[in-house]
Amino acid sequence: MATKSIISDERYCLVCGTPYNLHSHHIYGGTANRKLSEQYGLKVWLCARHHNMSNEGVHFNKKLDNSLKLLGVKAFKRVYPELDFVKIFGRNYE
Ligand SMILES: [Zn+2]
Ligand SMILES: [Zn+2]
Repeated sequence: MATKSIISDERYCLVCGTPYNLHSHHIYGGTANRKLSEQYGLKVWLCARHHNMSNEGVHFNKKLDNSLKLLGVKAFKRVYPELDFVKIFGRNYE
């Protein structure tokens, strides 16, 4: 990963804790927001199963996706209190 995650930089799946088959997942998708996620460290480690290799993965499981997006907003506000998340990412996920 180019920048450090502001959520957790430990090399374990955030969902199940496995250290194997990890993928770096950018919390906010789409061309612009993926870049912003990289820039602000809004990414997490997920195992293949919890990323995009099963229906439980964040790319298919809306509930998990929403909870990570909420986690991302909270971390963003904690780390960058002077910045306006909605202005930068274009919408609120809370
Ligand atoms: Zn996992
Ligand atoms: Zn992903």
